[in-house]
Amino acid sequence: MLTVSFERKKKSSEPSQCYRCQRYGHTQRNCRLAERCVKCGEDHNSTSCSGTRSLTVERGGTTWRIS
Ligand SMILES: [Zn+2]
Ligand SMILES: [Zn+2]
Repeated sequence: MLTVSFERKKKSSEPSQCYRCQRYGHTQRNCRLAERCVKCGEDHNSTSCSGTRSLTVERGGTTWRIS
């Protein structure tokens, strides 16, 4: 089983990430985009996700599925 952890170091130069739509450049407070699940990438809140606890990462044209 592979566990993926997120670093949450506070850096002023680091772009803010929205935990609502998982995009960078703004926060969930001023987010006007659709909610996006951090686990499966679907359009729903990650807390209400009933899917598998996996993450899709695109790297070098290849899509990796971490679960
Ligand atoms: Zn957002
Ligand atoms: Zn989900």
